[in-house]
Amino acid sequence: MAGTRGVKAGWLILSPDDIRGDHALVLTEGKVTDVVPNARVAGDRGFVDARDAIVSPGFVNAHMHMYGMLSHGMEFTTKGRSLKPILEDFWWPRIEDRLNHDLIRLTTEAACLDMLRGGITCFNDILEAPNALPGCLAVEAEVVEKAGLRAVLSFESTERVSPENGQAGLAENAAFIRRQRELGSGRVHGMMCVHTTFTCSLDFLRQARRMARELGGSIQLHLSESGDESRVSQERYGKLPVEVYEDIGFLDEGVLASQCVVMDPVEIAVLARRGVRVSHQPVSNCSIGGGISPVPDMLAAGLAVGLGTDGEVNDMFEVMRIAHLIHKGRRQDPAVMPPRTVFAMATEMGARAVGLPDVGVLRPGARADLIVIDAGTPTPLNRRNLLEQILLYRKASDLRGVMVEGEWVWRDGKSLTLDEGRVIRDLREAALDFWGERG
Ligand SMILES: [Zn+2]
Repeated sequence: MAGTRGVKAGWLILSPDDIRGDHALVLTEGKVTDVVPNARVAGDRGFVDARDAIVSPGFVNAHMHMYGMLSHGMEFTTKGRSLKPILEDFWWPRIEDRLNHDLIRLTTEAACLDMLRGGITCFNDILEAPNALPGCLAVEAEVVEKAGLRAVLSFESTERVSPENGQAGLAENAAFIRRQRELGSGRVHGMMCVHTTFTCSLDFLRQARRMARELGGSIQLHLSESGDESRVSQERYGKLPVEVYEDIGFLDEGVLASQCVVMDPVEIAVLARRGVRVSHQPVSNCSIGGGISPVPDMLAAGLAVGLGTDGEVNDMFEVMRIAHLIHKGRRQDPAVMPPRTVFAMATEMGARAVGLPDVGVLRPGARADLIVIDAGTPTPLNRRNLLEQILLYRKASDLRGVMVEGEWVWRDGKSLTLDEGRVIRDLREAALDFWGERG
């Protein structure tokens, strides 16, 4: 709805540490400009009445693969029991190497809808599609802009196909970073990206790091998503993966390392010393049997840890719930990963992890990216229990609205930007051929 001047909330979460009852957000040109008690809103015109609801910062999905929409429910088709054979036998030949611009467009549409339904307003995506170069990031950007989400988009450069293909991947990122800057897009940004120490040579990693610095931006990578990378790194270099990166001068606050599942305490200490940002994907980590990331240790070391869906279950209520619970079970300690921490990972800390400091909160000056959650809980809400009520007892079906940059993009179960029926129909049609499942 254009012309929204603000939202009156029953409960307003400005940040996990600043929760107010019966307050309104005042919005101007896509930003939060003021926060006032509802009683002080002069006239209701242009104000959405959500006094029976919770207004929260939209969720930040710190690690996403939109093309993963094609994998939902499909068997891994490998006898291997760890990440590397799953990549070599399934993800690379069966999906990533077969992606083209049409499939990228269709999966981007479906993924944007999936994320909106799960309360996500901002995401950080990695596309691996070695045979869709060049121009694949521009295809994604066009859809994301239309869907109305905020995103960081990157191409996962590796040398696994050939050195030339690796160079084409780096060039794709560099061109896209420059393009989005020239367009002045406040919604869609680029980021340099490489894969791992087992798919990239040290020279290639050095080159990518240098390019990111020259472009004045960040770089992201997958780090120790299972025990495989540590094993290969020890065999090849006699060092742990983080030590390999440290030795080539790769690590600093401009690096976002996703996964970080199998980590030696020595590695966590290096990441903390260098101010590296991290993202945690509990659903996919469990799905591939990769393990449970030492997130409580990384947080205790002072690392900024965001929360991501990895393109699997793109519902941040579910991902928050799993992150909240698995570490308690693993550590046999109900005090680890308290609601405040997990909620911060899905909002303000996630925004810091992906490098967008003006999202993930609703303080004046921040982007007006928010969600409205039904507050009809059977037990009373209060400032102390609000985040726990959301984490454990609210669902995506309790979402009433999603706003990005001051504009509603999803309301009352419907996308206002994409034709959901058409999007799902088109992707399903393409997926029937892709998986050879047509009649
Ligand atoms: Zn990933």
